[in-house]
Amino acid sequence: MSENGMSQQTLPSQDAGVERQTMDVDIVCVGFGPAMGGFLTTLARGLTNPDGTPAVESRAMPGMPPQVVCYERADDIGFGVSGVVTRARGIRQSFPDLDLSQIPLAAPVAHETVAYLLDPIGASRRSPLLRLADRCIRAFRGRLPYEHEALRLPYVPPFLRKDGGLLFSIGQFNQWVGAQVMGTGVVQIWPGMPVAKPLWEDGRVGGVRLTDQGTDLHGRPEAGFLPGMDIRAALTVIGDGPVGPIGRQIDEKLGLPEGHHRREWAVGAKVVVDLPEHSTLEPGTVLHTFGYPEPEIFGFLYVYPGRIASAGIFVPSWFDSPVRTSYRYLQHWMLHPYLWRHLSGGRLRSWGAKTLQESGKRGEPHLAGNGFVRIGEGSGSTNVLTGSGVDEAWTTGVLAAQGVLELLRVGQPFTKENLERAYIARRRVSWVEAEGRVAEKARDGFTRGVVSGLVGMALAGLTQGRAAVPGKSLPPAKRLPAIEEYYAGRIAPEEIARIRQDCAARGLSLHNALMDRCGWPAIPHDGQLLVSHQDALLMGGKVQAPPGYADHVVFLYPNLCETCGTKLCIEMCSGQAITAGDKAVPAFDRDKCVHCGACLWNCAVSHPDDPERSAIEFRGGTGGLHSAEN
Ligand SMILES: Cc1cc2nc3c(=O)[nH]c(=O)nc-3n(C[C@H](O)[C@H](O)[C@H](O)COP(=O)(O)OP(=O)(O)OC[C@H]3O[C@@H](n4cnc5c(N)ncnc54)[C@H](O)[C@@H]3O)c2cc1C
Ligand code: SF4
Ligand code: SF4
Repeated sequence: MSENGMSQQTLPSQDAGVERQTMDVDIVCVGFGPAMGGFLTTLARGLTNPDGTPAVESRAMPGMPPQVVCYERADDIGFGVSGVVTRARGIRQSFPDLDLSQIPLAAPVAHETVAYLLDPIGASRRSPLLRLADRCIRAFRGRLPYEHEALRLPYVPPFLRKDGGLLFSIGQFNQWVGAQVMGTGVVQIWPGMPVAKPLWEDGRVGGVRLTDQGTDLHGRPEAGFLPGMDIRAALTVIGDGPVGPIGRQIDEKLGLPEGHHRREWAVGAKVVVDLPEHSTLEPGTVLHTFGYPEPEIFGFLYVYPGRIASAGIFVPSWFDSPVRTSYRYLQHWMLHPYLWRHLSGGRLRSWGAKTLQESGKRGEPHLAGNGFVRIGEGSGSTNVLTGSGVDEAWTTGVLAAQGVLELLRVGQPFTKENLERAYIARRRVSWVEAEGRVAEKARDGFTRGVVSGLVGMALAGLTQGRAAVPGKSLPPAKRLPAIEEYYAGRIAPEEIARIRQDCAARGLSLHNALMDRCGWPAIPHDGQLLVSHQDALLMGGKVQAPPGYADHVVFLYPNLCETCGTKLCIEMCSGQAITAGDKAVPAFDRDKCVHCGACLWNCAVSHPDDPERSAIEFRGGTGGLHSAEN
């Protein structure tokens, strides 16, 4: 039993009697996303002189340039999931002679549209105000830019525009950046190597421990056990993204700065599609949607060269549905007439899902401490007002590298004080900071409803953050109604009980049955673009997990799960990797997990010791999606 009286599931100590190998390097990096791309690109250029001699000397290996190693959890550095449309200011600054023909699926932004999608089937949960708006739009459609059940906005708000920007596939972009970085010969990047934890030494981070191999699903050593190596370093750079376990462990130890919290999240679910031959969409086309399948769900469609499109939706934490699934909603969104006219006849190339940390500046953690710096989305860089995270993440990496090079050149240690001066001060005067402040309160209105949320975004965007609709944000678990409460007036509690019983008997989650009951039509699977959730795991993205590692999703408090009526973790799991288990505690199948991290914040109850955390642990783990196109 833990101090709070809960019976917490614990893992056996992996340290008892275990001899770990250690390796000394100068800088160890966690995660390879755009943030680390920016960091390593900038750092590598400063480590050697033009004649190839070291510009600064390694302390771990005297006579050599500093030893820099980066560990990425996924099986390849190109297995990320994102949009990407970006103004690319930071990226272009790093690559002034950027030749887009070298990066597959890259294109300049040519044309941007924002469209409000009406509900063509009457199943979405709209407020009376929104229903009235829909009726008015339909009544005056002859005089409005209305087509295919959608209203095209007359202009794209300036804060959202990506004029002169670029479209990327994050997988292809990361692979290209990784090749440039490794080509310098001064940085090593190791994919398929999850980091388990930071190493604390007298209050400073002294490196990281890699995940144990050759264990059972609970982390207990088996034949072929290989304890994760300890990588000791003067500096640990953490760029492990929105749900990164290393960043979160640091937050758990140090707490967040006063007044900061991480309560705003979203899961992005997307497809990469071969557009049909009849498609007239030009490369560089950018389309943003809102209003459907539920008013809270935003969508995007970007067109790459070669008649390929990247399209998807964002399901936010303030969509207070206790069965907020992303996969089925993604398919209903694709089937909206405004989009389906472009997608019908297309073919699924790839599929993926991933969490976004949407708290932005308000979710900013301690950016540096003795021996460590934080960069990228996990450091609060993503901007929800401009709908942009990649260039912001990249730029924070660049700023951190500039600071690190400055300290290396003058031989100063990586103390909190020095890193504050060399990195945080740079960040405070950057455009990432200035725009992050404008966006800080932009989404608060969504805590009251969709219309006030949209008004709040417009206000914040148009007044440079001086005005916004106020709102009180709560941790996701605190906002979540019970299923019976959410469907009150639509489905009677007795019927919900019957649906529950029926689904339990058939081993199914509830969301499909509840959506069917609310009038959502069955998805017309065609085996080509509209495929079942299970088929998507095999066809587009190909989910795999190597044996010999512990489960990375852990239900910390089985007794809380037993009494949890909502079981949101099962309903929303992006890979159907969480299912009803024995004794009402969910089961986890790592072979289906896409590492989207959504279960971390889609738990119906709070952690007994910390109301800001949930009762699920999301650890560093292997496997996941195998697609470099997402
Ligand atoms: C569907 C979707 C669409 C999006 N569209 C856009 C868009 O159009 N424009 C835009 O600018 N942004 C977009 N974003 C946001 C953007 O992708 C992120 O802001 C950006 O990727 C953040 O970069 P990062 O380097 O901080 O983190 P990430 O890209 O998340 O990279 C972190 C890396 O760390 C690795 N990692 C995590 N834990 C460990 C561990 N324990 N050990 C080792 N490695 C680890 C991860 O595998 C990952 O590769 C979108 C996101 C999603 C999900
Ligand atoms: S939602 Fe949370 S408490 Fe409920 S079953 Fe899932 S993990 Fe357990
Ligand atoms: S179990 Fe895996 S796929 Fe399911 S929500 Fe969690 S991280 Fe995503």
